[in-house]
Amino acid sequence: MEKILITGGTGLLGTAINKIVGINNNYHFTNSNEVDLYQYKSCQKLFEKHKPTKVVHLAANVGGLFKNINQNVDMLEKNIIINYNVVKCSHEFGVKKFIGCLSTCIFPDNTTYPINENMLHDGPPHSSNYAYAYAKRMLEIQCRIYREQYGDNFMCIIPTNIYGPHDNFNLNDSHVIPGLIHKCYLAKKEGGDFLVSGTGKPLRQFIYSDDLAKIIIWLLDNIEFNENLIISPDKDDETSIGKIAELIANEFNYLDKLRYDTSKSDGQYRKTADNNKLKQMYGNLDLINIKEGIKRTVKWFEDNYDICRK
Ligand code: NAP
Ligand code: GDP
Repeated sequence: MEKILITGGTGLLGTAINKIVGINNNYHFTNSNEVDLYQYKSCQKLFEKHKPTKVVHLAANVGGLFKNINQNVDMLEKNIIINYNVVKCSHEFGVKKFIGCLSTCIFPDNTTYPINENMLHDGPPHSSNYAYAYAKRMLEIQCRIYREQYGDNFMCIIPTNIYGPHDNFNLNDSHVIPGLIHKCYLAKKEGGDFLVSGTGKPLRQFIYSDDLAKIIIWLLDNIEFNENLIISPDKDDETSIGKIAELIANEFNYLDKLRYDTSKSDGQYRKTADNNKLKQMYGNLDLINIKEGIKRTVKWFEDNYDICRK
């Protein structure tokens, strides 16, 4: 019987996959309650218990621009350890298909656009998140060497910025969309300014978690493919941070109080990715547009304010 292990199964992306597959004995979604992926022995026990045939490895120490700036040591060490343990166990326990998760923010900063899969190691990443970026680049290397030396069917996906329900809405550590949703919610409640960090000018490609989850499930069923794969909207489908802030403010009917705190960092200006390889295999992506995705995420946040991560 097929057994698919999803590490990070209770996070933003893991819950989206869980929602789509529903109650399904072939899947097991795990998190820190069951396993401490910082410990090799704990990771081994997880593999011994579930004997996965396929692994989607999402568990990571994740955060937005400001968490990356402030916690470089954790971003490097924790991610290197988790990835080392999970990839090594996947080999040791004969996993037939492994999908690791990188990010388009780990590409070289000084580059040409759009970025494609072949450019991953062509230069240093942006200074704001270089620790996380190098840890993730090592995950790509680890998958590659197991492929080359042992013929393991290990690959990495490279998603753009993900957002949706069950995200981390922490005011300091989160990514931009959940962070701004929480900030706007509080600003409206308290009657204050809705303060957006930076100039609002940087550009990002955003993918709704359900859309990415569908593509990952499709990939799991195409086990012969084992190269790196960017998963993003089209290269022209970039949204400025300012536009994101306006969409969020509109959902709360609070546009008048939107202000920019230009003393805060803008981070990387853009990281436009090329999804041609994905589209050639998958066909039309038919992604949820950013306005609709933000509407759904704001609604989820308001409905789940008391219990969400924040
Ligand atoms: P997330 O919401 O922060 O969830 C992280 C998951 O990892 C949680 O289920 C967490 O479980 C688990 N985890 C963390 N440390 C663990 C440990 N030591 N042992 C066991 N489980 C542990 O992450 P996400 O946003 O869904 O991201 C999923 C993947 O996509 C990550 O690899 C991330 O790097 C990548 N990615 C994310 C984005 C984005 O915008 N979010 C963009 C590109 C790529 P607990 O809560 O129980 O600790
Ligand atoms: P990145 O895409 O990896 O850089 O990570 P983020 O999701 O954290 O997005 C960072 C961009 O959003 C930068 O241009 C920030 O200046 C801008 N931004 C504006 N307000 C916020 C906020 O409240 N939190 C975060 N994380 N970023 C913000």
